[in-house]
Amino acid sequence: MRRFDRKLTVAVSIFCGGALLYGGFILLDEPSTAHSRRPTLSDIPVNGQRAFSYLKAICDFGRRPSGSAGMRKQQAFLISHFRKLGATIDQQQWTIRHPENGTPVNLMNLIVRWHPKRLQRILLCAHYDTRPFPDEDAVNPRGVFVGANDGASGVAVLCELGNHLVNLDTQYGVDFVFFDAEEFIFPQGRGEYFVGSVRFAEQYRAQPPKHRYACAVLLDMVGDRELQIYKEKNSWTWNDSRPLVQDIWNTARELQVREFRQRVGHEIRDDHLPLHDIAGIPACDIIDFDYPRRGRNYWHTSADTPDKCSPLSLAKVGWVVFEWLQNINPNLLLKE
Ligand SMILES: [Zn+2]
Repeated sequence: MRRFDRKLTVAVSIFCGGALLYGGFILLDEPSTAHSRRPTLSDIPVNGQRAFSYLKAICDFGRRPSGSAGMRKQQAFLISHFRKLGATIDQQQWTIRHPENGTPVNLMNLIVRWHPKRLQRILLCAHYDTRPFPDEDAVNPRGVFVGANDGASGVAVLCELGNHLVNLDTQYGVDFVFFDAEEFIFPQGRGEYFVGSVRFAEQYRAQPPKHRYACAVLLDMVGDRELQIYKEKNSWTWNDSRPLVQDIWNTARELQVREFRQRVGHEIRDDHLPLHDIAGIPACDIIDFDYPRRGRNYWHTSADTPDKCSPLSLAKVGWVVFEWLQNINPNLLLKE
């Protein structure tokens, strides 16, 4: 995913993959919540330690760009994990040309379905490829990038939520979708982002399945030890998606998960754009782009390793999503 500061866009307009990128940081009100107790791992029904063990297992596969050996190991791990938990697995496979040398690269979006017969569905998703190289690394931009936060964290939260989904007592089904080739990008800033989610969204539009998605929630960079998740500006700006953002952040407030900040933050170009703009699904990106915080950066560097993430951050994000999912606001569902 990418962000550009408004300061930058005053001076330059950057075209990338045909898209004009810009961003900003809007500060709205933030209520004072200094005195109440914060939830700890033992308060949270979503298992943060287990989520973190998934994150580490995924990083142990090494770098996982599209078509790599590490990606294939991760795919086998996820298929086995979710099958054991009782999900139905679908694979959306296709081939692209490698952007550098033209050789074929096999891509796969992995779709994990819970209660697959239910026609109204909620989509939870994450990209599961890692960037080929740590482009932002000041020391070695062609070094190894394992993407503990940018790649594994969203996947790990979904792996953990899989333990809770079989027994979800709702009228709607849930699909987890792991998008390939979110950033199969070689020279920084050039090339095609969101290849997997664009493919998924185009197929949903061109060959509409029997089921319909009421809404989509994207998890990206949710493992930072210094977690703070602002409302993502695109999700907030879209009229059909703002109620979704409001409900998720209201859930976080009720749970006293104050890492979900009640402000609008960066504008992020991420996999939720194709879901919203191509597939027409109300969509929200849950992302902590400041990693670890403004002024310091592990994003797209070789420092994006498991020790920069925490079980508690994964637990809190998983808990908010699960509580929101269990008690979904009927206004977010499609009218039958
Ligand atoms: Zn990235």
